[in-house]
Amino acid sequence: MSPQRRYASRSGGGKRRSGPRRSAEDTSQGPVVQEVARPPGGPVHVPDTIAVSELASRLGLSGIEVIKQLMRNGVMASLTQVVDFDTAALVARDFNFQPVRKAVAEKPHDLHAVHEQAQLESMEETATLVPRPPVVTILGHVDHGKTTLLDAIRKTKVAEGEAGGITQHIGAYQVMERGRPITFLDTPGHAAFTAMRARGARGADIAVLVVAADDGIMPQTIEAMDHARAAGVPIIVAINKVDKPEADVNRVKTQLTEHSLVLEEFGGQVIGVPLSAKTGQGISDLLDNILVVAEVAELKANPNRPALGVIVEAHVDRHRGPVASILVQNGTLHVGDTIVAGEAWGRIKALYDDAGRRVREAPPSMPVEALGLSTLPQAGDSVVAFADDKEAREFVQKRQRERELRPAYVARAPILEELAQQAGAAQMRELPLIIKTDVQGSIEPVKNAVERLSTPDTRVRVLHAAAGSINESDILLAVASHALVVGFNVQPQQGARSMAAAEGVEIRVYSIIYNLVDEIEAALKGMLTPASKEVVDGHAEVRAVFTLGKRGKVAGCYVTDGKIVRNGQARLKRGGKVIAEGPVESLKRFKDDAREVTTGLECGITIAGANDYAVGDIIEAFRMQQVPR
Ligand code: GDP
Repeated sequence: MSPQRRYASRSGGGKRRSGPRRSAEDTSQGPVVQEVARPPGGPVHVPDTIAVSELASRLGLSGIEVIKQLMRNGVMASLTQVVDFDTAALVARDFNFQPVRKAVAEKPHDLHAVHEQAQLESMEETATLVPRPPVVTILGHVDHGKTTLLDAIRKTKVAEGEAGGITQHIGAYQVMERGRPITFLDTPGHAAFTAMRARGARGADIAVLVVAADDGIMPQTIEAMDHARAAGVPIIVAINKVDKPEADVNRVKTQLTEHSLVLEEFGGQVIGVPLSAKTGQGISDLLDNILVVAEVAELKANPNRPALGVIVEAHVDRHRGPVASILVQNGTLHVGDTIVAGEAWGRIKALYDDAGRRVREAPPSMPVEALGLSTLPQAGDSVVAFADDKEAREFVQKRQRERELRPAYVARAPILEELAQQAGAAQMRELPLIIKTDVQGSIEPVKNAVERLSTPDTRVRVLHAAAGSINESDILLAVASHALVVGFNVQPQQGARSMAAAEGVEIRVYSIIYNLVDEIEAALKGMLTPASKEVVDGHAEVRAVFTLGKRGKVAGCYVTDGKIVRNGQARLKRGGKVIAEGPVESLKRFKDDAREVTTGLECGITIAGANDYAVGDIIEAFRMQQVPR
């Protein structure tokens, strides 16, 4: 069965009406407070991005109900606009559905979705899955020898005559160890690794953490360690510079244990390899161990499907046009394939390997340089191969449309509030945290205090805790892991602040540990966010309808009780049925704009989205009020 069919049949699963709606009989007069009653909905599949209309149909609700709920969550979006998963999930939860992140139903349009879909397909064709080479990234503190190690690994193999060509820098390269290929990403460091993850791409399968034996564990070593852990990527430690007289391998091993990287020799699971990137000593040992870890990870792919991959690097060549380095992650890429990378597309004219040799195809985990794209993609863009040009073109157009429709900034639900709303839900909840403190001595107390808040069904997971101001790398990690950034007596750096704003990352800064613990505890117990209650402010009766030029109609009203407030919410009722709902767009007393009009007075009202008033209609003014649970 194709994934399309599967999703199409599933999408009806959540068809039931629920959510904050008032009954048709409800003609209550005067200000009333109504509890929002929400019968539980079932699980509903939500892709990484979804049009509001599609979300409404999946929830079995009207578009208006969904738009309204989005507004209550601070997101203005029309029916045709696209919202991200987090936003859609929030609305789904508001209506008591359990959102389940799923690949898009029709055409995959981002790497995440593409991979999920590939995985699903692969599950059905288990027979076609074959082992694929590991993709390795090198992380570690500055000057500990990452670049030297990458060069040394490549050179060893060239010296052994296996490459046979002049090495090209195409962003990644492959070496052979015991007849098996290993792919290395050429840009070392956790910033590059996590940036790719933040864009939805799987960066690497294995992280080699380089620690210089003469220097030991340093702040960026810990950062790198935490980034790899947050990604769930196995770590191999390369204890480098053992050729130096001041190298102290044992000290590094002890330090690793202190940071919960317990080496095999101490009864742990982590492989540590002493080596020298300068002399080449121990490098083969490292490569062998990479193969071992890859074996355990059971990395597999289906080489017989159209290629999926990620752009590692891209530049414009004066003679050859856009040149893109692609890491094939699943399937096989062929010369002649039409590919889409980000919003660039084109038919592949030529492929080159990391030795600059022309190749006809690239199987899973192989990096290649591709010619033929019409425009320049960006590093981190997902790559999808298509059977024909038409399909690819449509796919790009859809992507472009989506980008245009997407609001410039989709407000992410504040993590703590989101968590609070999930309280009592059946599934295990998790709060990933990144903690930065002013002094070293505060790290452990803060970390322990928040970790102690974990309960059997909610887990506080500290991804990274360190001293120092909140930096861009913290924000990247927060994006990639949907984590909350907590500062204890520290502020974000300027770059981090703007990055957080652009990416919708939530930063909370505290100076009293009690406040920090209190707020997180409240969120875990579901007491942080006040529940919404609808408060009816008043009613007005339509007594005349005026036409206002081409712009539409105005309802001439008499306020029967309470008040009508400009920009407040209102619904238009006819015969007890709600026929329109929206903000009060204009409110006039005679010719003048009024802020509010109270009982016994006449006024002209227009409600956004309503254009069909009739004498006898009732306009009900209401607002959503947040009240503590
Ligand atoms: P990176 O910042 O982690 O990429 O570090 P580099 O690869 O640039 O290395 C920093 C410095 O350490 C350079 O001067 C290297 O030559 C030196 N270096 C790297 N590996 C070794 C090694 O195994 N032994 C010695 N003695 N020096 C090394």
